[in-house]
Amino acid sequence: MGDVRVGLVQINNSFSNQNYLPYSVGLLQAYAQKYARTPDRYEFLLPVYRRLPIDAAVQHLEGADIVAFSTYVWNIKISLEIAKRLKQQAPETLIVFGGPQVPDRAEAFLRQHPFIDLVCHNEGEAVFLDILENYPANTWDGIGSISFLLPEGTFVHYPRRDRIEDLSLIPSPYLEGVFEPLIEANPQEQWIALWETNRGCPFSCAFCDWGSATQSKVYKFDLERLQREVDWFAQQKIQFVFCCDANFGILPRDLDIAQYVADTKRKYGYPAALSVQNTKNATERSYQVQKLLADSGLNKGVTIAMQSLDTETLKSIKRHNISLASFQELQRRFTQDNVETYTDIILGLPGETYDSFVEGVSRAIENGQHNRIQFNNLSILPNAEMGDPEYQQEYGMVTVESRIVNIHGSLVESKDEIYETQQLVIATSATPKEDWCKTRAFSWMVALLHFDKLLQIPIIVLREVCSFSYREIFEVFMERDFSSFPVLNEIRQFFWDKAKDIQNGGEEYCKSAEWLNIWWPADEYIFIKLSVEGKLNQFYREAEKLLNQFLSDRFIQIPVILHEAVLLNQNLVNQPFQTEDLTLDLSYNLWEFYQAIRRGIQIPLENQPRRYGIDRTSNTQKSWEDWYREVVWYGNKKGAYLYRNVTPTPDRMLQPDVPVAL
Ligand code: SF4
Repeated sequence: MGDVRVGLVQINNSFSNQNYLPYSVGLLQAYAQKYARTPDRYEFLLPVYRRLPIDAAVQHLEGADIVAFSTYVWNIKISLEIAKRLKQQAPETLIVFGGPQVPDRAEAFLRQHPFIDLVCHNEGEAVFLDILENYPANTWDGIGSISFLLPEGTFVHYPRRDRIEDLSLIPSPYLEGVFEPLIEANPQEQWIALWETNRGCPFSCAFCDWGSATQSKVYKFDLERLQREVDWFAQQKIQFVFCCDANFGILPRDLDIAQYVADTKRKYGYPAALSVQNTKNATERSYQVQKLLADSGLNKGVTIAMQSLDTETLKSIKRHNISLASFQELQRRFTQDNVETYTDIILGLPGETYDSFVEGVSRAIENGQHNRIQFNNLSILPNAEMGDPEYQQEYGMVTVESRIVNIHGSLVESKDEIYETQQLVIATSATPKEDWCKTRAFSWMVALLHFDKLLQIPIIVLREVCSFSYREIFEVFMERDFSSFPVLNEIRQFFWDKAKDIQNGGEEYCKSAEWLNIWWPADEYIFIKLSVEGKLNQFYREAEKLLNQFLSDRFIQIPVILHEAVLLNQNLVNQPFQTEDLTLDLSYNLWEFYQAIRRGIQIPLENQPRRYGIDRTSNTQKSWEDWYREVVWYGNKKGAYLYRNVTPTPDRMLQPDVPVAL
């Protein structure tokens, strides 16, 4: 047993018994065990890797001489509470904090949390080893990348040391056996692995702390090590690997890496999924990597991280060197290949106005994004450029502290639950408070109507047949007088009220004790509400009437096409308790027309009778709970809320006297 007992804490969120292996603190341990003068001097306790009651965490760490915490926005408060309690209980314990949540300028942070002895900045491996080797003398002179307060209160900061260029110097915690004792001690867990193939990001987006933290250069782990790590994932039957690289696909070898993971999956069945952040500006390679991941089933969809489509906004957030054209090209190619994509857009970025935001959304959809735009709120990270008060002042950014809750996260809380919080941007000079609410409500309305697909068919048909922009169509649902549309009015009001609630410090999601006892996004919440309250039929009646009014105001008359598009959409919306399939007779080839647009192809809308068989019974849910979970929740990202099994019968095969069932 070593003389020095070391406790490590890296708390991640859990997803129904799935937990991340604590990779960052695993790196610290592997590095220390390899390079310490006398490795046996140290005894590492099993790391704390998930949220626990404070008592349990403190008890686990009792007797440790040094406890190090790896912190980020999702664990800082609980880490601070554990550290405080440890220090109260055993004042001689050396408490060390690291990770992106430690501010670069740490004086105020240290004064606010006097139970922390030292903080580390940036890469931790070599710094942490120096700290261990100087224990118990506790002389920190000359250790780069740390800050602390002297006993008499003077703040000391030693500037950041150079990054480790040769990453082969950093041993792999997976290959060095760091995690085996943890896995053995917790057989109930399904582990998720965090994985790095390189470190660094050449971009420096103002909302992100990664590019600035890593000072641009991308350094690589060697290929052989990476392949052995993939083998380890397969041996350990790791289902899900999350790659932490800022830009997977940035290096030519990334295609080989992806191929190796795909081959391993084919041979052993593991890892089943690999999630990556795609590189920007490398269209061809990015395309090939993503296609490979999609074809091998490693990645169910491709995320296109646009964040904004407005060039002025992209300048404000220092993303103007990331090409919009390459995102659009990727989108186009994936749409044609039938590979699902998701577009990320952030609300309330500096310089973005309501107009530029909704125009951007409209363009992204016109460019083929019918699957999902994820509308994310803007949250400020302390070490991002945006964390600088001067930057915030320049763009008139207004923030509110908001409790972090996870999408579809449980409402069940432990006795002494510590809430994590984030600084959410709720207005800027370009998007004042009222406009922020309007933008937020617009985003949920688009999510509900287009991406949850409650009205996607008529919306696409109106766009294609009448050449309206998507913006014009969506705004009909935001700006009209709704006095004679009670259900639409209820939806719009709900979105507005929720936006205001967030501005007042409310959570980003809507809680429901009766619908699985979890947090729902506002659009899904409303979809469930319309379904359980039996208001969907009324919703479709009002939507058709509203769209007809909108067309009449422009002297356009396509009542049959519109009616049939709404009818088809309505009958395709997945609802529980189905006992019969449906046959739907329409006078236009609307299903084929809609499907073609979704695949980026144009076919004529033909006035020829069609009969559509809709399979509604094969996978129907027999309880509301199953439907909430399997359809609304699990189908969320894909917006898989329409029945897919539709059999069209061409007109020439239709018998003239077959009865119409509507
Ligand atoms: S958002 Fe992505 S591309 Fe931009 S700095 Fe962060 S990691 Fe790099």
